[in-house]
Amino acid sequence: ITAEDLAAQTVENIKANEKQLNTFITVNEKAAEDAKKVDAEGINGPLAGIPIGIKDNIVTNGLKTTAASKILYNFMPVYSATVMEKLAAAGAIDAGKTNLDEFAMGSSTETSFYGTSVNPWDFSRVPGGSSGGSAAAVAAGEVVAALGTDTGGSIRQPAAFNGIFGIKPTYGRVSRWGVIAFASSLDQVGVMSKRVEDSATVLSVIAGHDEHDSTSSEKEVPDYRANLSKDMHGVKIAVPKEFWHEGTHPDVLDNVNKALEAYKKMGATVEEVSLPTLKHAVEVYYVLASSEASSNLQRYDGVRYGYRAKDVKNIKDLFVNSRSEGFGDEVKRRIMLGTFALSAGAYDAYFKKAAEVRTIFIEEMNNVLKDYDLIMGPSTTTPAFKIGEKVDDPLAMYMNDILTIPANLAGLPAASVPAGLADGLPVGLQIIGKPFAEQDVFNAAYALQ
Ligand code: GLN
Repeated sequence: ITAEDLAAQTVENIKANEKQLNTFITVNEKAAEDAKKVDAEGINGPLAGIPIGIKDNIVTNGLKTTAASKILYNFMPVYSATVMEKLAAAGAIDAGKTNLDEFAMGSSTETSFYGTSVNPWDFSRVPGGSSGGSAAAVAAGEVVAALGTDTGGSIRQPAAFNGIFGIKPTYGRVSRWGVIAFASSLDQVGVMSKRVEDSATVLSVIAGHDEHDSTSSEKEVPDYRANLSKDMHGVKIAVPKEFWHEGTHPDVLDNVNKALEAYKKMGATVEEVSLPTLKHAVEVYYVLASSEASSNLQRYDGVRYGYRAKDVKNIKDLFVNSRSEGFGDEVKRRIMLGTFALSAGAYDAYFKKAAEVRTIFIEEMNNVLKDYDLIMGPSTTTPAFKIGEKVDDPLAMYMNDILTIPANLAGLPAASVPAGLADGLPVGLQIIGKPFAEQDVFNAAYALQ
């Protein structure tokens, strides 16, 4: 099969599924044309001719990029994110732009202006979020791999809900240039796929230093795939007792325990540890992430690009009306929360306090990782919930992130790997590693696969 044929079939298949799944906001109509070039030029990269789904908060030159918001409904980027340049150089084909929660704020894709995606395992359930479109597209077999972003769990939670593998690398491992900013101190691009090997290949392609992103690391990028190993002998695994969160589905606990037993049989040691500050992680995350978001989203003003309100009399009305009409409720909630937390009267009590508690929490995580190679636990407390179940209850939705937020606060690499079923729906085991030890995370997942 030629790359051109594969791309054409992929696009056709996505379109056939779209009415049911709504995994893509924009399909790349030029995919076959792009693939033709790969055929003609004999590009021999590690991803030559492989169609990949791209979360629609990653900018793509000449392909509409919306961040699932009305405010960017017509945004046509004039450049591509660094990760897209790297994918193209490796021969990958952009299959199209996948659905997400508006500006990646959410855990279900229900805040998308373009409607929710559904979980291919059960169409009445959410695919998780915010990278729910990417996860569902992979689970449904529309693409072998997809890029997601993870600020507080947006790769791992949907990976768990869709029964696939997903990895958020160490903060700084992948360039954020051209990734629509949500919370810059937490955001990272990562990969989702059914097989661990495929994510390993893609992460090696997209990782590395970028002069456009001063937070990107200069550390050399390993060939994760070539170095995959199932040898768990002598690996020290820590299981924080606070990860056994109240309200966790019993079958989630059961499946995670089974996975831990399997690692013991492979020669790993498993011990319980404590992360006492975890109980504050959700509050800390929502103060910090919303504060950064309120600042990052100031650029959407109806003047430079995107949605512009009509019939306005002056510049102030242009700003106010464009933002009022262009942003959805969840984004407005975050902007208000963040603006408040950063305001003169509230700064010390909210933003500063949250930043201090984050520092304490990072120390706790790093202390555990001095004595252990990996931290493990469930990726989520329950399997995929019903569409509509939590959408009117922001706190219930936020609490859903309790297990994934720690890795973002501490900037650590973390993955979710399939680990059995609960109520017939997939469950994920979460694997967190030391900074830049993505290989250890991949290997542990590979051993279980
Ligand atoms: N669910 C979290 C939030 O709504 C995480 C989102 C993300 O990782 N992008 O902020």
